Amino acid sequence: ANSIFGALDTTIFETMSRMAAEAGAINLGQGFPEGLEPEEVVEAAIAALRSGPHQYPPMAGLPALRQAVAENARRFLGLDVDWEKEVLVTSGATEALADAFFGLLEPGDEVIVFEPAYDSYQPIIRRAGAVPVPVRIAPPDWGVPFERLEAAITPKTRAFILNTPWNPIGRILDDEELRFLADLMLKHDLVAICDEVYEHLVFDGRQHRTLFALPEVRDRVVRIGSAGKTFSVTGWKVGYITACEALLKPIMRAHQFVTFTTPPALQAAVAFGLNLPDAYFDGLRAELQGRRDLLVGGLRAAGFDVENVEATYFAIAATGEAKSDDVAFCRAMTFEAGVTAVPLSAFYGKGDMRSHIRFCFAKREETLRAAVERIVAWR
Ligand code: GLN
Repeated sequence: ANSIFGALDTTIFETMSRMAAEAGAINLGQGFPEGLEPEEVVEAAIAALRSGPHQYPPMAGLPALRQAVAENARRFLGLDVDWEKEVLVTSGATEALADAFFGLLEPGDEVIVFEPAYDSYQPIIRRAGAVPVPVRIAPPDWGVPFERLEAAITPKTRAFILNTPWNPIGRILDDEELRFLADLMLKHDLVAICDEVYEHLVFDGRQHRTLFALPEVRDRVVRIGSAGKTFSVTGWKVGYITACEALLKPIMRAHQFVTFTTPPALQAAVAFGLNLPDAYFDGLRAELQGRRDLLVGGLRAAGFDVENVEATYFAIAATGEAKSDDVAFCRAMTFEAGVTAVPLSAFYGKGDMRSHIRFCFAKREETLRAAVERIVAWR
């Protein structure tokens, strides 16, 4: 399977879910929620399946969903988006990412990838013939390293991929970081691919910030969202891209040959969901925030050093000096404690950042309590 583009390995999330199943462990590894699916959105999908249509919807997505994506961005982020020219529906953010890489990159282009990075970025950038250039961020502050970032830029740099709110570290980029990135985009003529699938999952009254909101760079930004996260239905695989027409056109050309379309009933249901009143979005945040507090509090009580979590489904914890191999630690915790997490090294191309593990807290309270009890008993 090795080629000049590099091997496509089994994703860490699948690997850890299989390990959890084999051990009968509580799975806090793979990032998916438990018991949060909004009933009215599920009902909307059922109604749409009953009524049809069942044939190929328009290649760019149902107008109702594209309008809802634009309207939701206006309501929550104050963005001004032309739904007809600037919104594309995809089969999940995963497809959106692939379309963006295939549509915008030429062989030999370099793409800055901030690490820890979601595991699909680098393999697909390579398959597009481009070169991922990792810029790593690290403890204790997990901040964007301005100098190292600028040093990584060459005349071949075409884009960077940015994930805010950030899986796995649970951070939101702040205004100073976004300002720096925007200036860099202008100075070096770069495009930003912004994976914002956790845009609605922000806590403690914080605000998600997007580069798309900065007028000087708006037309250089590809903004990606996912219904999987916003409506706690990760199996649905409905995503969306917002970008100016000039960027969206080549992305759409890739999309027409990757999936072409996305199931229409699910698109209709997601359109309905995006138009739900603020109370839905506030409720989701509040519920997840409570779950975060439960898991983070429990892990800290068990002696883990856990980073603060501003957003996302995830909390990261240091494994501690005695057990400083994250992969071995996750395996041991799965088989000995009966709780599965994900090693953070999976988010680093070289696999050498071995000091932390990631827990998903988007689970039912009883699941989280049981996991904490097992970990306390084990440590
Ligand atoms: N995004 C999820 C995570 O980070 C999992 C996605 C997947 O399993 N491919 O855990």
